[in-house]
Amino acid sequence: MSDGVSMTLEEVYATAFEVLCVQGCSEPQAEAIAETITAAERDRCASHGLFRIPFYVRAIRGGIVRPRAVPTFTDLAPGVLKIDGGLGFAPLALKLGAEPIAERARSQGIAALALTNVCHIAALWPEVERLAEWGLVAFAFTGASSFVAPAGGTRPLYGTNPMAFGWPRAGHPPMVFDQASSASARGEIQLHLRDGKPIPEGWAIGPDGTPTTDAAMALEGAQLPFGGHKGAAIALMVELLAGALIGSVFSFEAQALDTNKSGVPPGGEFMIVIDPSRCIADEDAGNQLQHAEALFERILAQEGTRLPSQRRFAVRAETLQNGISIPASLAGEIDALRTVS
Ligand code: NDP
Repeated sequence: MSDGVSMTLEEVYATAFEVLCVQGCSEPQAEAIAETITAAERDRCASHGLFRIPFYVRAIRGGIVRPRAVPTFTDLAPGVLKIDGGLGFAPLALKLGAEPIAERARSQGIAALALTNVCHIAALWPEVERLAEWGLVAFAFTGASSFVAPAGGTRPLYGTNPMAFGWPRAGHPPMVFDQASSASARGEIQLHLRDGKPIPEGWAIGPDGTPTTDAAMALEGAQLPFGGHKGAAIALMVELLAGALIGSVFSFEAQALDTNKSGVPPGGEFMIVIDPSRCIADEDAGNQLQHAEALFERILAQEGTRLPSQRRFAVRAETLQNGISIPASLAGEIDALRTVS
């Protein structure tokens, strides 16, 4: 990229950590966010990489998020762990909660994590991938602000509500998918706006309820669920799991809490973690992963296919070696945040 700024992944981490500390994060909060941002840049998930730094800063300046929060843990049942994020950012709570939830999944066979009072503006794959690397099957769900119209509707109600799933593989990196229940992540529309590009048809409707390819109109109007009523049903499920079930807020309630309109209100995340060896008779434990490989092989035997997450693992090998490049405009925006104005 000729107009880009080249960075090593160490520089990505150092930049994120420095800016977040300067802007008021405690070191543990800044470390966890910087790790998440670096992982996103490493895997070329630009909408959750350094691009997100101004969002974190806006959330801090908005006054709702507590950037020095320390998450607290409560066992609600042998297999249900609650973490109250104390209105901090999600990455620290998820990092600290990973081993405890894995332990509970191994001892109970299945465990749930109810994470409340966090600001979650990252991708979900880091939390499920970490658990799948430890041999566990994991699901994650989180809401957002009201951005997406319900099926047939024209006004935003649901969040973009991603869900992620991780499956451990013997001898390979895990199979992970992580997808918004909207036709596109909001960050993708924001990237199109930044780059002055039209968005694909089917992503959004404008404020007048008609389809639009104008990124600014899309952000003012409503995003659309993927696959019509089917994606809308997933968005609805995510609202219920990451909202009502764990005593957290729905996306429309989260938005109302964001009185300073920072765009990043606090909410919840729900995770389900399963130990595969506890889902089958002892003598068959271990066969499950081999059996899954037969399915993966058949998928990949068809030309034009790949497994979800294979793109990330492929680019990871390259960025670990060669670093990344970000637009000069983003580098300038981040540099301006190295001091408190
Ligand atoms: P994409 O549509 O880009 O990708 C969704 C999934 O499909 C990924 O796991 C991707 O794997 C996989 N995939 C893509 N193409 C193929 C293919 N041809 N064959 C097989 N698998 C494929 O993601 P979204 O735009 O829906 O979401 C982007 C991110 O935004 C997610 O990480 C999500 O968590 C995040 N998000 C966060 C929110 C928050 O509030 N915290 C809100 C909404 C979204 P691969 O990565 O390998 O390409």
